[in-house]
Amino acid sequence: MEVDLTGEFRKALIRLRSRLNEPATSIRPMPASRRRAITGQIESAFQRLDEGTYGICRNCLLIMPRGQLLMQPYAEVCTDCRSRKAA
Ligand SMILES: [Zn+2]
Repeated sequence: MEVDLTGEFRKALIRLRSRLNEPATSIRPMPASRRRAITGQIESAFQRLDEGTYGICRNCLLIMPRGQLLMQPYAEVCTDCRSRKAA
């Protein structure tokens, strides 16, 4: 049996995407533009899963921590790079 290491992230993305498309208030209300941006990020995360590049920081090319990916499965850069960018 093949172990799918990205399965849990794929599931998290699918969950997140369906929640974003719900009109219900299961998530904090957010502006439509932000919702669209996240939807786009989710789609590109699915693409990376298919390409096998999922979980690799786009900036420093290191593997991102599992905890970060579970919290924000569509993240494209690791927390280090993100905080450096923000600083
Ligand atoms: Zn990085």
